[in-house]
Amino acid sequence: MKFYSLNKQAPEVSFKDAVIKGIAPDRGLYFPESITPLPDSFFKGIENLSNQEIAFNAIHQFVGDEIPNEKLREILAIVLDFDFPVVEIEENIATLELFHGPTMAFKDVGARFMANCLGYFSENTTNEVTVLVATSGDTGGAVANGFLGVDGVKVVILYPNGKVSDIQERQLTTLGQNITALEVDGTFDDCQKMVKTAFLDEALLSKMQLTSANSINVARWLPQLFYFLFAYKQAKSQGKEIVFSIPSGNFGNVCAGMVAQKLGMPVKHFIAATNVNDTVPEFMNTGVYNPKPSIATISNAMDVGDPSNFIRIRHLFDDNLEKLKQNLSSFTFSDEETKEAMKSIYRDSKYVADPHGAIGYLGLKKHQISNPDTYGIFLETAHPVKFLDVVEETIPETISIPEQIKKVMDKEKKSIPTKSYDDLKAFLLHR
Ligand SMILES: *Cc1c(COP(=O)(O)O)cnc(C)c1O
Repeated sequence: MKFYSLNKQAPEVSFKDAVIKGIAPDRGLYFPESITPLPDSFFKGIENLSNQEIAFNAIHQFVGDEIPNEKLREILAIVLDFDFPVVEIEENIATLELFHGPTMAFKDVGARFMANCLGYFSENTTNEVTVLVATSGDTGGAVANGFLGVDGVKVVILYPNGKVSDIQERQLTTLGQNITALEVDGTFDDCQKMVKTAFLDEALLSKMQLTSANSINVARWLPQLFYFLFAYKQAKSQGKEIVFSIPSGNFGNVCAGMVAQKLGMPVKHFIAATNVNDTVPEFMNTGVYNPKPSIATISNAMDVGDPSNFIRIRHLFDDNLEKLKQNLSSFTFSDEETKEAMKSIYRDSKYVADPHGAIGYLGLKKHQISNPDTYGIFLETAHPVKFLDVVEETIPETISIPEQIKKVMDKEKKSIPTKSYDDLKAFLLHR
């Protein structure tokens, strides 16, 4: 499969090159040249297929013959070794729990898939790849875990000092080996800016192969479409039209859901629910895309003022706002509303939602006011333990610490203080 740049000023590349480059030389995001629907029989019989079989059928056309089928199946078995349950919490409302992986946020699948693809592509070369990634919290841990010990790949994670939770910080600073954490004296936006500067720095690029492990990378973005198929497999017996509500920051997850729809999955509507970082909800109302600096909230993994994947969503719907509105609604919610939702979900259903999932729930509720006869699924993108302080001060429940998290709690933090882009560059050139 070929991938083209959405800026249209760069040559088409193979899947392999799209993964290794991360972003096109014209700064555009890569997009598959075609999306061929799966046969009806696939969706009719989906409940008889294993998750790995579903994933193989869905991703195969994008990978083509660049990874042998046997190897691709092997990779999917490693990536998908945990459950993705749909849990009903009210009549016609269920949550798709995406937090049963090693770092307990949904980014594990994309990070592991990308790590295994890069690992395969670097098997027979001596060219080392450096993965550079900025994190507001969950990406760092998932990438560190997914890439740990992958030969030929070095990982450098930039995170904002004092702005990630204690658990998140341990997940990205304690692993060692080929993973290094740079603790940036600044905000997530500063980290992201430093990464972007590095990708434009010719002097640096002439010395090393840099790639990104954010959801701009097709190998991190595309496997997220599996979630929607796994949910469909579990919910289709409800016999109702399905709507998905996705708590969104960079809009990679919801965009992957839309690729599942293009593959022919029956789905009536998507809701992208955001915190007060409302660039997309505003766009859906006004037609004007006005990126802003990010605002800190209790759902910190979605504190994004200029969502990088939204351009892919617009492209999927031919840049036609009316067409997009038929498939997507987007709503914004405050921290106060988020906490109220966590409380009411707990009170009425005894379910503990994390702040991100609670925003997904709110978006779904709002949509169902005018679309009551639907089966709504909101995505629970992280385990509540990852946001322990907020969760425990909002609802009367003590969260027990799962094994995956205990493992990192008493490991030693190792990070390199970083003040400026020059520090980052010096580190990359001289480590
Ligand atoms: C990354 C993340 C999101 C946002 O996902 P996008 O694909 O960037 O929209 C939502 N919730 C949690 C917990 C996350 O870690």
